[in-house]
Amino acid sequence: MSEPWKVVIIGGGFGGLSAAQHLNSNVVDVTLIDRRDYHLFQPLLHQVATGSLSAGEIASPLRSVLSRQKNTRVWLGTVVDIDPDSKLVFLADGTIVPYDSLIVAAGSQTSYFGHNEWRLMSRITKIGTFIQSSPYAADCGAAWRAVVG
Ligand SMILES: Cc1cc2nc3c(=O)[nH]c(=O)nc-3n(C[C@H](O)[C@H](O)[C@H](O)COP(=O)(O)OP(=O)(O)OC[C@H]3O[C@@H](n4cnc5c(N)ncnc54)[C@H](O)[C@@H]3O)c2cc1C
Repeated sequence: MSEPWKVVIIGGGFGGLSAAQHLNSNVVDVTLIDRRDYHLFQPLLHQVATGSLSAGEIASPLRSVLSRQKNTRVWLGTVVDIDPDSKLVFLADGTIVPYDSLIVAAGSQTSYFGHNEWRLMSRITKIGTFIQSSPYAADCGAAWRAVVG
């Protein structure tokens, strides 16, 4: 019998987790690598910031989410390099993971075009917009004052 096709997924966010769940088949061997051991439901981060949810309510351990998927392992590690010619993924702890197919779902970061001072302004504006539009705006007044200092 031929070896299952090795699929490596970098990132256990919405993209990586969805890919892993769609690859629930014994013809593929899936390794999902994430530097965190949990999937973070980012759209609810605001509720954690304003205290209406606890951090645990928006973070699910990746191993338990995928525990019924026998063809899938979750690997805790930070990817530092990829060699597409030799089809290898390199982790910060020195581990080398071979693959047949690679799915990169490591998320994204905002570029401030060399103006890193804009990063703080952007965060303050987003939090302020959320608090002012929230039905709990009055209750959040103290939080808003704490954010803007
Ligand atoms: C506050 C907030 C509210 C949002 N609200 C909405 C909304 O209402 N509706 C909507 O559609 N979208 C919303 N989004 C956007 C949505 O959350 C993102 O588009 C989505 O999470 C992107 O998914 P992703 O899988 O591409 O990346 P992510 O969810 O960012 O996942 C990337 C994963 O890769 C891992 N990773 C990154 N680098 C490495 C590395 N080098 N090695 C190992 N692992 C690594 C990370 O730990 C992470 O788990 C919101 C985002 C935020 C921040």
